[in-house]
Amino acid sequence: MSVLIVGSTALDSIKTPNAENPRLLGGSASHAAVAASFFAPVNLVGIVGDDFPTAYVSLYRRHKINLDGLQTVTGKTFHWSGEYEVNMNNRRTLATELGVFETFNPNLPESYKKTPYVLLANIAPALQHHVLDQIKKPKFVVADTMDLWLNIALPDLLKLLKRIDAFVLNDSEARQLTEENNVVKSLAKIHKMGPKYVIIKKGEHGAILSGPKGLFISPAFPLENVIDPTGAGDSFVGGMIGYLAQVGGNVDQNIRRAMIHGSVAASFCCEGFGLNRTTKIKAADITRRVKQLEKLAAF
Ligand code: AMP
Repeated sequence: MSVLIVGSTALDSIKTPNAENPRLLGGSASHAAVAASFFAPVNLVGIVGDDFPTAYVSLYRRHKINLDGLQTVTGKTFHWSGEYEVNMNNRRTLATELGVFETFNPNLPESYKKTPYVLLANIAPALQHHVLDQIKKPKFVVADTMDLWLNIALPDLLKLLKRIDAFVLNDSEARQLTEENNVVKSLAKIHKMGPKYVIIKKGEHGAILSGPKGLFISPAFPLENVIDPTGAGDSFVGGMIGYLAQVGGNVDQNIRRAMIHGSVAASFCCEGFGLNRTTKIKAADITRRVKQLEKLAAF
C-alpha cells in the first residue's frame, strides 16, 4: 500500500566542524520520502522553484517517488542552512529563506486522495490540516512538527492533534508542549491532546513510543561516524510509515518493528551529508542493520 508524504522540499546548506556542503537536496518531505521508498510506493506533495536542480528530480524518480503532487513554480526553492557543534547534536539555524514555500498550497492530485498511509511531515500545521481535509478515509495518519510551530501556530497544532493517529516530536518539543520536564510523564499529557500513539524522538538515544500496548523503547543504531544528522528525524518517521504500509494489517502489532526500521533508515541518513548516503543503499542494507539491532537490543 502506498504512502502520501507532504512536507518541505528544500535546498539545504549544511556546515559541520569538518565540512561544508551547499544546496543539498533536503527538506522534511525529501528525507521522509526517500526513507519510505525502500518499503512502499510514495506519493510526494511539495513545492520547488525553477532553480531546483533536475538531478534532484532524477533522484526522486530513481526512488520511484510519484511526483504528480510536486509543484514547480517560478521563484526560488525553500533554502535552509544550519551549522552543527562539535558534538553533532546541537544545531544552529543560520538562515531560512522561504522562497516559493511562502505560497505553498498543497492541493492533492485526484489520484492521491485515497492514499491509505499519510505522513504530515514538518510544515505549518495549517497546511497539514489542508492535506487532511482532502484525503479520503486514510488508514493511518502520523504528523511531525518542529519548535517553530509550537511558538507561532500552537492553536492550529492543537486542533491537528485531534485529527491524527500518531504524533512524532522530539524531547525538547515534548517539554515545551506539555510544560513537563519528565519526558515519560509528558506522554500521558500528549495523549490527552488527541493522538493514540505518541512517539518522542531522543536523537542518538533512540525513541520512545506510548500506545495502546504500553511503552516501547526503540534504540538508535550505534554509529561510530556521524557525518550529518540533518533529516534523521524525517528519515525515522518516513521509514516507520513506509514499513507500516509495506506490511499492512494491524498498526498496534507492527508499530514497534516499524520504529526499528525507521531507526535504521535514520542511521544511514546520519552517515552522509544530506541524502548522499541514504540514496546509495538498498533495501537489503536496511534489513541487515535491523537484524544487527535486534541482536544488540536482545536480553
Ligand atoms: P531534522 O534534521 O529532522 O530536524 O530536519 C531537517 C530538515 O528540515 C531540513 O532538510 C530542512 O530543510 C527542513 N526544515 C528546516 N526548517 C524548516 C521549516 N521551517 N519548515 C519545514 N522544513 C524545515
